[in-house]
Parts: sequence; structure tokens; C-alpha cells
Amino acid sequence: MSDKLWEKIQEAFPNAKQSVPLARYTTFKIGGPAQYLIPVKNTEELQQALAIASAHDLPYFVFGGSSNMLVSDEGFAGVAIKIEMNAYSVADDTVIADAGVVTAALTRASIDAGLAGFEWGIGVPGTIGGAVRGNAGAFGSEIKDVIESVQALVDGEVRTFTNAECAFHYRDSIFKHNSGIVLGATLKLKFDEERGGLKKMMEFLEKRNKTQPKGFASTGCIFKNFEFTEIDPAWANKNIPQEFLDKKRISAGWLIEHSGMKGEKEGAAMVSETHGNFVVNTGGATAAEVKALVEKIKQKVYDSYGIGLEEEIQYIG
Ligand SMILES: Cc1cc2nc3c(=O)[nH]c(=O)nc-3n(C[C@H](O)[C@H](O)[C@H](O)COP(=O)(O)OP(=O)(O)OC[C@H]3O[C@@H](n4cnc5c(N)ncnc54)[C@H](O)[C@@H]3O)c2cc1C
Repeated sequence: MSDKLWEKIQEAFPNAKQSVPLARYTTFKIGGPAQYLIPVKNTEELQQALAIASAHDLPYFVFGGSSNMLVSDEGFAGVAIKIEMNAYSVADDTVIADAGVVTAALTRASIDAGLAGFEWGIGVPGTIGGAVRGNAGAFGSEIKDVIESVQALVDGEVRTFTNAECAFHYRDSIFKHNSGIVLGATLKLKFDEERGGLKKMMEFLEKRNKTQPKGFASTGCIFKNFEFTEIDPAWANKNIPQEFLDKKRISAGWLIEHSGMKGEKEGAAMVSETHGNFVVNTGGATAAEVKALVEKIKQKVYDSYGIGLEEEIQYIG
């Protein structure tokens, strides 16, 4: 049965793979095998891959840059669909990009076209599809600030969502809740009259190099920053910076650092010494080790501040 299925998959997708370690694809370099991995180059191929999964009762997930996920050591018993839709175009102040376009590449393209507003994207690994789903952001901007509309496949139907319909929030969008697969996005930028985009981009890169771990595999920030509406009186003697209290958002990295977790290890997984919200793979770390470390961090932050951190990363398998 499964060999027949593999033959069918290969026939439709000559570049598909069987039992392929997902660690090869994730920026964390962690993750067991996907039963099947199907790269898709357009909406029709995506629909075909989904139809195969559905016909054989196999679960599926889609991925772009795999830069925001932890894949289990057991891997994924189903179909991993790699979004490889890579076309984009720029006309006037509008950029139209397929979901698989690399975010940093689109930043470069927008700057080359004399457009401003997406310079911060240079340091965000992964693809536009992943960035839209998680409302990625950096340096005070989020992708929601530049999105005009998003095309997505929802319940088998291709639909266009306006910015408002995307229901963007901090690291959140409707696509996290309606199982929509992002097909592409239209970005509305500004004309960069002063041509300052390149300089801005270089400044962002430089800041990143100073504040993020270098030389280790990671999956970016593990946790969301902690958002709140009311100040907890229990924080009175905790020296939480006023800036965080004013913004009603406390940096997860700050909480982790001040809970004394920097440098903490579980096997080969370690809380970065450079940035408390990064767990780095010091070489051969397993997903189980990362998970154990994540639980340890949560417990320590809760014990120190009474705050329950929530993961920004997605668990697969
Ligand atoms: C070193 C480093 C630095 C980072 N810095 C930042 C940062 O500054 N700001 C920030 O926001 N993030 C940051 N991240 C996290 C990550 O880069 C972003 O979340 C990114 O937008 C994820 O895109 P991706 O294509 O890699 O998504 P993936 O990791 O491939 O997928 C993430 C989730 O989105 C889903 N998904 C992927 N593509 C689609 C699609 N087309 N349609 C629907 N669902 C989809 C997946 O199923 C999964 O659940 C960083 C990561 C690393 C490794």
C-alpha cells in the first residue's frame, strides 16, 4: 500500500522525498524524518499534494524556511509540504510576492526598487508565507504594517484577505486559526525619496549581529514577549524596566536573563549567552533536549515573576 502511494507521489512530484530527515531543512538542524516530503511550485501542485494526503488519510503540514519550528525527534508521520512558490514583482510602490519568496530577498528587491518600509525584513529568516502567518516583525515594525492583502487557500478555496481580514496581532494572524495556507501577499510600500533604504538595512543587520547569537543553529526567539493589561502588584520589587511596563509588554529575553537562565543547558541545547530568548543547538541537540530546556525556562520564569511564557515557535510532530 505505502509503496504504491510512494510511486503515485513520485509520478506527480519527481522531486518528492521519502523518509527524509527534517533536520536537513530546519534552521535549528533538529528534527526526525518526514514520511513524505513534497515540494510545491504553484497552487495547483499544492492542491494536488493536499488531495494525495487527504485521499490516504495522512496528516500534512506546510513549511517555508523552517526557521520558526521545532520538529520532534520522531519526525512527522505524514506529508511535509515545502512551499516553493518563488515569484515576485514590483510595480510602483506595490510588491507582489508568492508565499515561498525568502523574506530577506524581498527586502533587498524592495530596496533595489527604491521602496522604503520593509528594510527590517533583512534579518528575518524564512519566507513571506511564514512571516504573514506569524505576523513577523523586528525593530518596532511588523509585516502587518505593509500588507495590503493576502491570498490564501482556506478549506480548498483560494481567497483574498484584506489587511483587516487577516486579523493581525502580535505574532498572530487569522491563518494560525483557520488553517489557511498562505499563497502570496501584496505589500504596499513607500517611495524612498532619499534612497536611505540600503543604509537602514545595514544598520538593522549590524544591530542584529550584536544582539543575536552567532555560529549556532537556532530557531529564533523561542517565546513571545509577555503582554499584559494590568500591572501585577507582585512585580513591585522585581526591577522590571519602566519601558516594558509602559508598553504593557515585557521582553521574554529580559525575563529569561533575569531568571538566571542564560547559559543553562539540557544536553546540547543551551540558552544563548548573547540573547536569553534564543535556545541554540551547540551540536547534535535533540528536540527532546530543547523541549526539556523550554520547560525549565518556563518554570524558572514562573517561579521568579509569576509569569507564564508562551512559545512563539511551532511544534511539529
Ligand atoms: C536567527 C533567527 C532570527 C529570527 N528573527 C526573527 C525576527 O526578528 N522576527 C520574527 O518575527 N521572527 C524571527 N525569527 C523567526 C522566523 O524567522 C519567522 O517566524 C519567519 O517568518 C518564519 O518563516 P518560515 O518560512 O521559516 O516559517 P516556517 O518555520 O517554515 O513555518 C512556521 C509556521 O508557519 C507555517 N507556515 C509556513 N509557511 C506557511 C504558509 N505559506 N502558509 C501557512 N502557514 C505557513 C508552518 O506550518 C509553521 O507552523 C527568527 C528566526 C531565526 C532562526
